[in-house]
Amino acid sequence: MQAQILELLRDISETSKTALMLITHDLGVVAETCTRMITMYAGEVIEDATVDEALVRPLHPYTSGLLRSLPHLSPRHGRLPSIPGRVPSIAEMPNGCRFRARCAHATKGCEAEQKLQDAGGGRRVRCWRFAELNLPGALHPPSAPVAAKVATQ
Ligand code: SF4
Repeated sequence: MQAQILELLRDISETSKTALMLITHDLGVVAETCTRMITMYAGEVIEDATVDEALVRPLHPYTSGLLRSLPHLSPRHGRLPSIPGRVPSIAEMPNGCRFRARCAHATKGCEAEQKLQDAGGGRRVRCWRFAELNLPGALHPPSAPVAAKVATQ
């Protein structure tokens, strides 16, 4: 049923020459249907990339955490990773990076406000450490530093 509805939406989008925007937690739907993926966290856009780029080489730790928590058909050992903690309450939104309390890569610099910045190649990310983190995606872990990839685009 889901596949039929998505196909119908794609057909309508093509025949009417209009954009289709899906708001979903289902990354399988995103991978099958979309060309661009905008990830949001605690009310903010935290990453904006093509779907292919975001799935293979996410630049934000939250996007990477979401992708790594997906069930996978290839053999993996141990439990699926999950992102610890919870989304902050709107009444107690932290200063600086809103993902900081849950991020394994947080440092002192993450206490500063994070702006959505140009990451090169038409991508945007709200993390000042994006170029050095080399985060794994859904398909396979990255093999080269992100900074090198961005520099070649
Ligand atoms: S700014 Fe810091 S806390 Fe926020 S996602 Fe980046 S590394 Fe993690």
